Amino acid sequence: MKLTYFPYTLYFKRPFKIAHGIRSTTPIVITKIEYEGMIGYGEASMPPYLGESHETVLSFLKKAELILSKFSDPFEIESILMEIDGIEKYNTAAKASIDIALHDLIGKIKNKPCWQLFHGDKKDTPYTTYTLGIDEPEVLKQKVLEGEDYPILKVKLNGENDKIIIDTIRSISNKPIAIDVNQGWKDKHLALEMINWLSDKNVLFIEQALPKDNLDDANWLFERSSIPLFADESIQRFSDIDKVKDCFHGINIKLMKCTGMHEAHKMILRAKELNLKLLIGCMSETSCAISAAAQLTTKVDYADLDGALLIKNNLFDGITFENGKITLNEMQGIGVILKAL
Ligand code: MG
Repeated sequence: MKLTYFPYTLYFKRPFKIAHGIRSTTPIVITKIEYEGMIGYGEASMPPYLGESHETVLSFLKKAELILSKFSDPFEIESILMEIDGIEKYNTAAKASIDIALHDLIGKIKNKPCWQLFHGDKKDTPYTTYTLGIDEPEVLKQKVLEGEDYPILKVKLNGENDKIIIDTIRSISNKPIAIDVNQGWKDKHLALEMINWLSDKNVLFIEQALPKDNLDDANWLFERSSIPLFADESIQRFSDIDKVKDCFHGINIKLMKCTGMHEAHKMILRAKELNLKLLIGCMSETSCAISAAAQLTTKVDYADLDGALLIKNNLFDGITFENGKITLNEMQGIGVILKAL
């Protein structure tokens, strides 16, 4: 099998503030795996804070190229992915780009969409949340209006103007909201106070309230919270699930964190055994990685897959949203068409 790859840069429709300035782009790499005239597409997305970049992904993929050239059968996917995982310890986005392309290829060879290969029922997809980044009240109100087609809003908080942000949204919308604190509540007592304040405000769940490594406090909060708590930064891969099972009500699985669809599926099965709730999330991604993640959403409670909606230069057509509901298509593999590269 032949692997090729293309570095690319995604531009946000709306650049946003970060600690040291404005973020307006995300680097990505598109992968292609060819086998007997068929092509599987994959994608790695590298938000700067996760430590991967064009350089690290390209150098990883150079090594992956050699491994793939040794294999002549994409159905040896388990062995291929195991060897790819062994190249380096991290590089999870680069690994995901191989995993996604292989799943796309296998779907094309079997002439089936991946959601069918995972024994999903197309009807069972959740709604995606629509993300509102941290902003001034007037901008926030504008964003709420822009998300009018989406029945669930995802609100980012950071411990600074949290009550103002929530009050601003609640002044114009009663939609259920999911909250993402991104580790921004540094103290468990203040976190509990905020949770109590939020308890009558139609909040579905709160993601990563406390710093990721502080599992003792996460457990303390878990035992007291009236709102379900989800792990995002506290969980990356399959092997992390059992470590966080007594600290959260649910977990956020992202292909770029967990190395792709194969491991994400294993995580879903394990989380269900442990009675954990499930959310599938994303980074800033084209419809390629978003559609790949969407293939697994028939099995989860919530989805946060609006990444491709927020960028200007989406390279793919893929899954769509019908009034916010994830709508899988009947196309083979991950269900995408390359528009340009
Ligand atoms: Mg998050």
